[in-house]
Formats: sequence, structure tokens, C-alpha cells
Amino acid sequence: MTEPRLIDTRALRSLLGALIRDFRAFGPVDSDGVPAFAPLGAVSELRLDLDPTHLSAREFFLPPKETLLSFALSENENGTKSAVTTAVVEAKEQVLIGLKPCDIHAVALMDSVMAAGVPDVNYQKRRAATIIVGAECTPDDTCFCASLGTEQVKEDSGFDLFIHELKRGAIIRVGTERGAKLLKKYAWGRRATKAELEGLTRYYESKLAAFTAKLNTPKEELPAVLAASDESPVWGEIGALCTGCGACNHVCPTCYCFDVRDALTSDQKSAERYRVWDGCTLDDFTLVAGGHNFRRTRAERLRHRFNRKLNYGVKKFDSLFCVGCGRCSRTCLVGINITEVTNSLIKEARGVDKVAGKEAGKARTKSD
Ligand code: SF4
Ligand code: SF4
Repeated sequence: MTEPRLIDTRALRSLLGALIRDFRAFGPVDSDGVPAFAPLGAVSELRLDLDPTHLSAREFFLPPKETLLSFALSENENGTKSAVTTAVVEAKEQVLIGLKPCDIHAVALMDSVMAAGVPDVNYQKRRAATIIVGAECTPDDTCFCASLGTEQVKEDSGFDLFIHELKRGAIIRVGTERGAKLLKKYAWGRRATKAELEGLTRYYESKLAAFTAKLNTPKEELPAVLAASDESPVWGEIGALCTGCGACNHVCPTCYCFDVRDALTSDQKSAERYRVWDGCTLDDFTLVAGGHNFRRTRAERLRHRFNRKLNYGVKKFDSLFCVGCGRCSRTCLVGINITEVTNSLIKEARGVDKVAGKEAGKARTKSD
């Protein structure tokens, strides 16, 4: 594997400029004051200094709406009808520039989900056609990735190239052969020295100190905290606030639920089967035949969502399914904050321990 390289500021600009010129490139821009992924036309549009984008990069691998099958219906002269079904798999080459460490961890989680059982071909082809160029970040007051160990990408994997910007240039880590080829072609620089790499270690130590949002327990304890929270009054409290808008699902980089629908054209000669993002906080997510809804209340739906992020994934994929990006907290219009809610549950779980199994919620105050 290629050792980290050091390039100067001019070479960094030329690397980014070449990627933007030679590929369909997307990266964070300032979209009317909101950090958002957008198509890039010039390096000057790219903003690696912004807070995490409003939406994650999920849309580039799993678009909000995607055709899976197309049907062409025909009738021969004898009146016999037939249908030709074609699988639709669209995967154009693209470069995503500026994925933060938490987002790179999220893509790895999505990869494991989409490879499990029957592999999701549409996702996998698009993923293979995507070059990922990661970049460092500065936490805002909602980021809590350090509590989940996703504040840095420790292994050289999950990205093709990763940019650590310095005052006069950048250290570029190389994660794939494809990344090495691109770097050689556009801005090879020189091998980073031991002292320069030690500077990165010091940077990560100082980054840890910059987080204000934190979970009050080691991440390994979270599944047990959630498992013990079934009867917690927290769910009722946040359920009473929640509007069921689904925004927390839609901004989350690790939510992957979708609904599959069919649509017929008005001449009834063709049709498509497509999928659209779905979300477990939406009122009709668990609505089934006969009008039965097996998670009727918003409290139940939020309890499910929190368990999906901090508990259930461990059994199935050996990982939590939250990367601490803070998007759900930033987005929720009624102020439901995943760090605060989880810390309330942690406090309750400790209360249960302390009072030998008595109802933990009694020790909880509004200020929790
Ligand atoms: S964003 Fe907030 S209000 Fe909307 S569904 Fe999620 S928790 Fe409920
Ligand atoms: S649950 Fe919230 S903080 Fe965790 S990954 Fe999803 S959006 Fe980010």
C-alpha cells in the first residue's frame, strides 16, 4: 500500500481541479448558508471547511427515488399480450470529494447492509463506480462521533484518497490502487516524513478535546442501555414532541429503508418498478393490510429508531448504526437531540443499577 504523501497547496488545488474537470464530481458547497453536497464546476465552489452537510452522501449510492425494473407491454396481431421486463441498473462513474470521517464509516456500514443476504446490485454497482476523497473536519456542537470512535478513519480503507489539510499543503492518505493512480497522475508530491505523520497523531489528540457533545458511557455499553429502556418515560416525552416528519431518517447516513412501488403510464403500455426512501418515524411505516399499525405511537417509533441506531445492529452486523454525525439532532425542528436523549437513557440505566431494579424513570428530572 502507498505510504501517505505530502503535497503543497498548489498541488492540492491542482489535484482537486483535475478531479472536478475529469469526473462527475460532487462535494460540499455553501448552498444559501446551508452546507450541502452539490455538483462541482470549479475548485472555488468546494468548501472543505463547513459543518457536516445537511443531507449525507447516501443519495449518491442509494438515490431517494430509483427505478429498479421497467416493463414494456405489447399485444400481437392475435391479441396475445406480453411484457418484457428489463432490470435498470444505472451506475455512472462519480467522485465524491470531502466526505468526513463519520460519513466514511457510514458508507462502510451501508456496504455491509447492501452485501448481506441477496446483494443489492444497484447499490453495489454505484458504489464501485464512486471514487471517495475524504477530508478532515472540525466538530460542531452537535457532532458526537468521538463517543462512537468514528472521528477518524484509522485504517487506510473506506476511501480512495483522504486529505489532511495543513497550513501549506496536505498529507494525502491512499486507500486504494485507484486512489494511488489518481494521485500519481495529478499531484504525486513526496512521501510524508515521520515527523509530519506524528503531527497527524497530535492533531487527532487535539480534535478529541474539541467535542462538546458526548455520550456519558462507552459505546460498548449502549446496546445494554437501549435494551433496558423499553419502559422508559423518555419515549413518551419525546414522542409527545415528535411530529413524525421523518427528517431524522432522511438526513441519516445509515438509514437504508425503502418502499417499492409500481407505476403504469397512462397509455398502459409501459410501467416501472421503483423504490423510494422510507423512514421508521413516518406514521405509515408500519401500516399493514387491514389498517393495523404495529408501531402505533410516535413514542414507539422513536424507541424503534433509537434501538436501530444503538442496539439492534450489533447483533446483526456487529456494529452500532450511528456514526455520531449529529444530522438528526441538527435537523429536528422540535429539538429532539440524540445525544441528550441517549444520555437520559444512560442515566436511567445507571439508576436501575443503583436501586437494584426499581423503576429508573422516577429518578429522572425534566432537566435531564
Ligand atoms: S426529525 Fe424530529 S420531529 Fe421529525 S420525525 Fe425525527 S424526531 Fe420526530
Ligand atoms: S442517528 Fe443521527 S447522529 Fe447517528 S448517524 Fe444517523 S443522523 Fe447521524
